[in-house]
Parts: sequence; C-alpha cells; structure tokens
Amino acid sequence: QAKKQGRNNYQLYDVLLDRKAFEKLQIENALRKALERNEFVLHYQPIINLYTNKVTGAEALIRWKNERVGFVSPDQFIPIAEETGLIIPIGEWVLKTAMLQLKDWHENGMEGLTMSVNLSIRQFYQPNLIPMIKETLELAGVEPRYLTIEITESMTMDVEKANVILHELKGIGVNISIDDFGTGYSSLSYLKRFPIDHLKIDRCFVKDIADNKSDENIATTIILMAHNLGLSVIAEGVETVDQLGLLKQHHCNQAQGYHFSKPVPGEEFPRIKVPS
Ligand code: C2E
Ligand code: MG
Ligand code: MG
Ligand code: MG
Repeated sequence: QAKKQGRNNYQLYDVLLDRKAFEKLQIENALRKALERNEFVLHYQPIINLYTNKVTGAEALIRWKNERVGFVSPDQFIPIAEETGLIIPIGEWVLKTAMLQLKDWHENGMEGLTMSVNLSIRQFYQPNLIPMIKETLELAGVEPRYLTIEITESMTMDVEKANVILHELKGIGVNISIDDFGTGYSSLSYLKRFPIDHLKIDRCFVKDIADNKSDENIATTIILMAHNLGLSVIAEGVETVDQLGLLKQHHCNQAQGYHFSKPVPGEEFPRIKVPS
C-alpha cells in the first residue's frame, strides 16, 4: 500500500515538475522577445532621508507585462533571464532607461536625486560591465556620483574577484549598496575590505522591528556596525509609522517602503508626497 502510494506521489510530482518546466520554457521564449516588443517598464520607489524627511533617491525596479503570460514579477523572471544570459541585454536596457529618466528629473526640479539600479550576479561578473556603465552614463549625461549600484551578499562569495570589481566600480565614481543585507552569509569582515557606501537592511528584519525585541536588536546592531564601518544604512520595506519611529530612534539614515510609496511609473514619481 505504502509502495503504491509512494509511486502515485512520484507520478504526481513528475507531472508538476513537467508543468513547471513547461511554464519556464514558455516564459523563456516570451522573455526572448520582450525587449524588442517593448514589454518592459521601470517603476521607481522613492528613498527617503530620515533626517530631512525628503526624497533623495529612487530605486529602479523592472516590470514585465506580456500579452500571453500576463504580468510577471521580477522575482519570477530575473532568475530565468540569469540562466539564459538574457539578463545582459535586459540589464543594459534597465541602466540606460534609468539614467535617461534621471537626467530628465535632474533637469526638471530634482537636482541631486540619486538612482539605484539592481545588478544580478551574471551582470556583475560580466567583463564588459565597467565600460558598459561608463558609456551609459556618458550617453545619458549623468555624473557617476548620482548612480548607486545594488548588489547582494551572495554575489561576493568569490571574495577576491568581487573585491576587484567593486574597486573598479568605485574607480569610475559610482556608489555601491549591499542589498538585502542579513539574508546572505557573507563574512562581516569583508564589509571592511569592500569599498561600499550603503547597507540595505532586508525587509525581513524591518517587518517585526516594532513588535519583537530580538528583531529590534538585530536591526539596531546592523545600524551600529554599519556606522562603525563608515557606511550609511537604508531600511527596506518600511510599512508602518511604528517601524519608522524605531528606525529613526536608532539613527537609520534612509528608508524606503510602502509607508512612503510603492514603486510608481516615472510620470508619477515627481508628484509623490512624503508623509511625515
Ligand atoms: P529588491 O532590490 O530588494 O527590491 C525591493 C523589493 O521590495 C521590490 O520588489 C519592491 O517593490 C518591494 N518593496 C518595497 N517596499 C516594500 C514594502 O514596504 N513592503 C513589501 N512587502 N515590499 C516592498 P520587486 O519590484 O518585486 O522586485 C523584486 C526583486 O527583483 C528586487 O528586490 C531585485 O532583487 C529584483 N529586481 C527588480 N528589478 C531588477 C532589475 O532591474 N535588475 C535586476 N537584476 N534585478 C531586479
Ligand atoms: Mg534593490
Ligand atoms: Mg532589497
Ligand atoms: Mg530583494
């Protein structure tokens, strides 16, 4: 009986796996055509300076609307784009679009605004990365200091290689953030060696910061440690006034999250009103 059931389960598992594989192939095929069909768009989420309560930056977040597959979230298609190498042209499109948008904002009342752009691991280790970023900045007419590159801890597993690339990035004058900090398992000692500017505390540590003392302690410790290393701290996923209050109390520098605004299309960004 157990054996029979086990076998049935196995078949069910097989079917599910096939379906998954099929969906993946479907997404992959659609993804190949998405750039030429103009199916990508960037949304922008404001980053708020907690000392001034002003919007000082934007994070560019990609959105994909395909007529057959429908709306696909970046968490679903970025991994497939990574696997297939499509992330390279997609990533170039993201950077170019974000920099042209930033130039427009700089010329229309938002001088000094910074733009954060996410890199994935394959982009990070791509030999053409540095010239590509330089060329894109020149083409858009944006100074490097207004661009922040976001990478994650997991991308720095190869410490020596990562360190070289990070120094090259700093060499052209852009800023570097470690995204989703705390979810990876990078050794803290590398933080000192890497030429980084900001740590972004992952949303999962912010979530219960106001209800759970040990979560508050983790967040506080990250902030203290970052400050001791001369880094500024950005809290992700701030949704409530209580979370915000605690982060301010612990001298967190910047924050982003639904409390301030969801990511919005470029046209809406200049109209965002920051609640105090
Ligand atoms: P991320 O870089 O950590 O971006 C933050 C994610 O949290 C975004 O999800 C954002 O919409 C969401 N978020 C912001 N505030 C809140 C909040 O208060 N509550 C909650 N629940 N969520 C919040 P999104 O846009 O779905 O992006 C997911 C991930 O996909 C990003 O995580 C990033 O790793 C990746 N991604 C997005 N755009 C790009 C891109 O252009 N290139 C690459 N390589 N990856 C990207
Ligand atoms: Mg990010
Ligand atoms: Mg993040
Ligand atoms: Mg993330």
